Amino acid sequence: MSDTSTAAIDAGATTFETIAVVGAGVVGLCTALQAQRKGYRVTLIDHDAPGKGASLGNAGYLATELIDPLSSGKTLRGALAMLLDPHGPLALPLGYLHRSLPWLLRFVAAARPSQVERSRVGLRQLNRAALPAWQRCLADIGASEQLCNSGYLLVWESAARLADAKAHARYLQQWGVRCELIDATRLAQLEPALVGTLSHALYFPDASRMREPYQLCRLLFAAFEARGGRFVQQAVEGVTADTQQVRLKTSDATLRFDQAVICAGAWSKALLQDTGIEVPLEAERGYHISMDSPVVSLGRPIGSAERRFVISPLDSGLRAVGFTELGGLRLKPIARRFTTLRRHSQALVPALADPVLSCREWMGHRPTLPDSLPVIDRHPRHDRLLFAFGNQHLGLTQAAISAELVVDLMAGTTPTIDPQPYRVDRF
Ligand SMILES: Cc1cc2nc3c(=O)[nH]c(=O)nc-3n(C[C@H](O)[C@H](O)[C@H](O)COP(=O)(O)OP(=O)(O)OC[C@H]3O[C@@H](n4cnc5c(N)ncnc54)[C@H](O)[C@@H]3O)c2cc1C
Repeated sequence: MSDTSTAAIDAGATTFETIAVVGAGVVGLCTALQAQRKGYRVTLIDHDAPGKGASLGNAGYLATELIDPLSSGKTLRGALAMLLDPHGPLALPLGYLHRSLPWLLRFVAAARPSQVERSRVGLRQLNRAALPAWQRCLADIGASEQLCNSGYLLVWESAARLADAKAHARYLQQWGVRCELIDATRLAQLEPALVGTLSHALYFPDASRMREPYQLCRLLFAAFEARGGRFVQQAVEGVTADTQQVRLKTSDATLRFDQAVICAGAWSKALLQDTGIEVPLEAERGYHISMDSPVVSLGRPIGSAERRFVISPLDSGLRAVGFTELGGLRLKPIARRFTTLRRHSQALVPALADPVLSCREWMGHRPTLPDSLPVIDRHPRHDRLLFAFGNQHLGLTQAAISAELVVDLMAGTTPTIDPQPYRVDRF
């Protein structure tokens, strides 16, 4: 093992501090760029090419209306039915159950009303600040065209669930989320490709989406490199910190930095092992199918309230995403999930039943904590080490604001939002 201090050597040429960002997903990329904006010399480290983790395959939707944590009394009451439904959105692979059980117990505990309220406050303040943060980030790198104000539709098939939609609209409006209940006729006008038997929908006119999640990562990375950022393609195997520096042990070397931010998504837990902090982070597996679809287009992302999946228009075609599967980081994708996504997509958009349509399949790992809040914090004892991970289903939505927050903590400037809900030692 060599002991190279490249970053520290570079530091001799400048007055700026050296920073490592571990993980080049959308959160790490935004963090690296934000640290550069504040004048730090930044090295981004990933064992893979940038943007190839969960950030590659998301639906591109900025889901700012999702202000409720995943764990709630309502979720727990519906969990058994979801698990028993062969096409349901929730899965607990048996081979991993012994490992996911402690996390599940914490997830159940997080459904108590006081915790739900704390999580809602934490999610709401991040989601409210999410879009302006993205606008700042993209304007700064000349990529504003990646973001479009598309709107979003949450659709219902069953007329018997009209009351659910009305109640949900009232609930969201009370939290300042603008949405409108629309009937089947208006829905058909807005989205003619949707099946004609839908009953009603909630329309979110302020919702936005990214044009193409992987292209977004490529643009963020290109801007980072153009500003002098350094990329090291190596796996980080150990993290230690003292009062002087942070040491990152990689497969090839030990790299030293003035400060480091762990943004390794669902893999972050292992990297905290040597730092005396344990977080109950799970890999919440989600699936997508991407369809190159010249025959059918949608104007905006569509969520199905009953089937619990989202189908989203991207530059590359239509992408259907779904599933919450607690299967860890090693299990292979389960093939029948793709069949279910195909079935759901065709039920909502009949033209997708075309047998010649080409379809790509993908599975990725959402980084999820039991209370649905991310960790955005400084290590309580090693203040040169910081964290930004655990944004669950909302990692794309919250990436730019999470980056602003963690870099404010790093720089010692007063953050624009309260960092308390995201403390690393809250568990
Ligand atoms: C099917 C699906 C659909 C989704 N849809 C949406 C959506 O529409 N909107 C939304 O807001 N969110 C969505 N999400 C969630 C979102 O994609 C994630 O929350 C987000 O991508 C997480 O970003 P990240 O940077 O934290 O992690 P990742 O993108 O997973 O990046 C982590 C990086 O760390 C690297 N890494 C890990 N370990 C190490 C190590 N030891 N050394 C070096 N590097 C390491 C990995 O290689 C990876 O590049 C979806 C997720 C899925 C799975």
